[in-house]
Amino acid sequence: MDKAAKIYIAGHRGLVGSAITRNLHAKGFEHCLARTHAELDLTSQAAVEAFFAAEKPDYVFLAAAKVGGIHANNTYPAEFLRDNLAIQTNIIHAAYKNNVKRLLFLGSSCIYPKLAPQPMREEHLLTSELEPTNRPYALAKIAGIEMCWSYNRQYGTQYLAVMPTNLYGPGDNYHPENSHVIPALIRKFHEAKVNNASTVTVWGTGTPRREFLYSEDMADACVYLMNLPDAQFVPLLGQDRNDGLPPLMNIGVGHDLTIRELAETVKNVVGFAGEIVFDSTKPDGTPRKLMDVGRLNAMGWKATTTMQSGLVVAYQDFIVANA
Ligand code: GDP
Repeated sequence: MDKAAKIYIAGHRGLVGSAITRNLHAKGFEHCLARTHAELDLTSQAAVEAFFAAEKPDYVFLAAAKVGGIHANNTYPAEFLRDNLAIQTNIIHAAYKNNVKRLLFLGSSCIYPKLAPQPMREEHLLTSELEPTNRPYALAKIAGIEMCWSYNRQYGTQYLAVMPTNLYGPGDNYHPENSHVIPALIRKFHEAKVNNASTVTVWGTGTPRREFLYSEDMADACVYLMNLPDAQFVPLLGQDRNDGLPPLMNIGVGHDLTIRELAETVKNVVGFAGEIVFDSTKPDGTPRKLMDVGRLNAMGWKATTTMQSGLVVAYQDFIVANA
């Protein structure tokens, strides 16, 4: 991307989209395009087509999606399927019609089968059954990967799908029940510290293993990939085949830790002096979720933020957001 390129970030207010926007500005890309939901309804084909025809972006980061935890996925399966299919179909097709040079389509690790081998590799896509609770979301995202692949094969486009592991960082959702584990623990330890509580209760047994990527690292990986020279980028796109590896790239750190280790790290970052108690009546979920990041590392990118330093920034963000 040259510095004058017109770059559209769909979903610029989300955890990843906002981090991508900051990363682009920090690297001197001045010409970023963004529209709020009120300004542009991405589920409307006519509105998306009019926007692309008027603005003619050169590059697109497709970070807009309907997302949520297990509860939201279970309650609104129709919206998770329909909205995500509509958003990605409208944007990918408009990108093609308006000669967008490159597009990055963002998903999540839940596209992989429920019992995928660990660490999960890109070729594990569609090898066995999905986790039923987020199947509508996952199927929409898998359709998006297939759409990128089909357009690359048929039209020679340069569309790559990137799947991050669990993310955390500034702008996260800190809801006490509906959030993911890191923002939930930040809130719990902070409130316990402020209230001089003696214990904090962490769900489950503490033994499940999870991988976590700092959202600013995720954004850096996305901008890095978008900037790869053709010699590296084009072989990722599956333009010449329909039975090989999809244009798909895991983004993660390549190592995991137990929920107990995570809880102890958050406790130290927040500065809570009491004890951690595990509530094993609450579900552990899947025992392990780790991505293989060999394909990404081979492109020359590795995550750099440690959990400790990422959590320090996330905790500051929580304090400001709740001030
Ligand atoms: P998952 O990766 O899809 O299982 O999503 P979560 O981020 O919600 O949970 C990850 C792990 O953290 C699970 O083993 C949870 O039981 C555990 N956990 C411990 N305390 C909490 C908490 O307060 N909130 C959440 N969401 N998870 C917690």
